[in-house]
Amino acid sequence: MAAKLMVGNWKMNGSLAANASLLSEVLAGMGGKTCRAAVCVPAPYLAQAQALLAGSALALGAQDVSAHEAGAYTGEVSADMLRDFAVRYCIVGHSERRQYHGETDVTVASKAQRALAAGITPIVCVGESLAERDAGQTEAVVKRQLAAVIHTNGHCISEIVVAYEPVWAIGTGLTATPEQAQHVHAVLRAQLQAATAHADRVSILYGGSMNAANAADLLAQPDVDGGLIGGAALKASEFLTMLKAASR
Ligand code: PEP
Repeated sequence: MAAKLMVGNWKMNGSLAANASLLSEVLAGMGGKTCRAAVCVPAPYLAQAQALLAGSALALGAQDVSAHEAGAYTGEVSADMLRDFAVRYCIVGHSERRQYHGETDVTVASKAQRALAAGITPIVCVGESLAERDAGQTEAVVKRQLAAVIHTNGHCISEIVVAYEPVWAIGTGLTATPEQAQHVHAVLRAQLQAATAHADRVSILYGGSMNAANAADLLAQPDVDGGLIGGAALKASEFLTMLKAASR
């Protein structure tokens, strides 16, 4: 398996000044880190981040992409546009987009397809709500969400990244235990293995209140290949501590 992959999701945070200071601090502390790392910035800051990250080991990511190729879709950003800014990764199907923007499994699968066609690695988010976990539906929910992406993307499926993000753990301070995360990651791994002979190429990240204190234990699980980090990625020292934990 490749080096662990740690991805910061800035969500709708930042400013030109704040981004410059955060990125310069992170870049200054990246020496000696052997994990792979990326930051997914708000779309208006792609040009700024591209310039600041040029030639560095920190890859550029976006937080969403249109399911359409081009045309009359006001407000949308296409995969080709992201590619113009050397975007390497794009989050698709984050629970905040499923919840607040009505994104369905089919939409998420189309977004992943657009990203792949543009040479961008989609980070496909799956995860259950608290009610679904309490009802014993965790496995069924994440498998349904991933199945849609597998169905649409066929032989390209080994080119995606998957992020298991239990909805009840995102931004709440509640984290899945390492055992809970490992259990779901193993389920997703088995599903990928059934779909492709190259499932070992797919990194499966954990996301949901991952921070400097809990990252090492989560990353020690055999099927946890990295992290998708929200709030804690906005603090350079905390993000760097997690990159260090992922570099062991
Ligand atoms: C996320 O936004 O994907 C996320 C996991 O957020 P947080 O780390 O803040 O829970």
